Amino acid sequence: MKLGIVGLPNVGKSTLFNSLTKAGAESANYPFCTIDPNVGVVAVPDERLQKLAALYNSVKVTPAVIEFVDIAGLVKGASKGEGLGNQFLANIREVDAIVHVVRCFDDPNVIHVDGSVDPVRDIETINLELIFSDIEILERRIAKVSRGARNDKAQAKELELLNRLKEHLEQGRLAITFKTDDEDEQEWLSGYNLLTGKPVIFAANVAEDDLADDGASNKYVQEVREFAKEQGSEVFVICAQIEQEIAELEEDEKKMFLEDLGIAQSGLEKLIQASYHILGLISYLTSGEPETRAWTIKKGTKAPQAAGKIHSDFERGFIRAEVVNYQDLLDCGSIAAAKEKGLVGLEGKDYVVKDGDVILFRFNV
Ligand code: GDP
Repeated sequence: MKLGIVGLPNVGKSTLFNSLTKAGAESANYPFCTIDPNVGVVAVPDERLQKLAALYNSVKVTPAVIEFVDIAGLVKGASKGEGLGNQFLANIREVDAIVHVVRCFDDPNVIHVDGSVDPVRDIETINLELIFSDIEILERRIAKVSRGARNDKAQAKELELLNRLKEHLEQGRLAITFKTDDEDEQEWLSGYNLLTGKPVIFAANVAEDDLADDGASNKYVQEVREFAKEQGSEVFVICAQIEQEIAELEEDEKKMFLEDLGIAQSGLEKLIQASYHILGLISYLTSGEPETRAWTIKKGTKAPQAAGKIHSDFERGFIRAEVVNYQDLLDCGSIAAAKEKGLVGLEGKDYVVKDGDVILFRFNV
């Protein structure tokens, strides 16, 4: 699961990416982590893990992770091949969701590519490039489907969808706001893998002073919030520069630093958690003396497939899952006490795993 960080040049993408990866997972723990400097494997902050680990005296704690990709170089004209435009657009096509960084800080020392700070104009510039690129994809598909559409009902139906979708985009709207209840259409739509069909989170990059009230007194942030509402996106207020400083601190120093700033949680942590959710991911937990660990699954995953994340044998030989809610377990103080209170469920293969389930799988080998 991958998120791409996009935005115009000089808005703070690299600064954000660096703080993400610095605060992030020990890459040594994650052998699948590539050495690509633009890709970072980032731990998802989850305070439940430390508490569970304390209960079980776990030697090791392993958080869930997600990948962030720094997609620099998206500029006006990218869809027409300006700069390395098309390459960057191809990179965006590979991600599952987008973090769109927008500049909401004034600083005469940091040049703006369009001469002034105007986040909505910036967002529209990027959106337009993505829209152009999507229209190109639709046009290619239209050319292909048109030939068969005369004699083939399915292709005729798809052609009709393509034309409607293209019109939608030509009005400057995003594919994600295009709604259809028709199942064929939904399937085609997801098959096109349109850039503007991907979920977006806006990261409003503000000055340090604007953190305490979460950007409420920053007019740029207000503009971004209004805009985001229309396309159904969330907005997170961060100060990339401060995040970079925070990322270098030890855990207890970090707490004090955040208190001084008047915030409980760093913007980065909120952003990572929101990214995890926007990807439709949840965590179930396993805990014992050797390790307490969060396992990433898609919402709606059933117990055997969730077990398969640990090992394929767990899925194949699945018998049942012993499940207790994380908070219930902590309240009871031990799994034995939770069992006595009837809070540990014995669940079968149709059980849909919930976020925060602490699970012990029983299986045949
Ligand atoms: P990118 O081109 O989007 O990757 O932008 P960078 O991360 O390289 O940042 C561009 C410049 O803006 C750098 O000089 C950063 O130090 C500066 N910058 C980034 N975030 C902030 C911020 O929150 N406040 C201020 N004042 N400057 C920032």
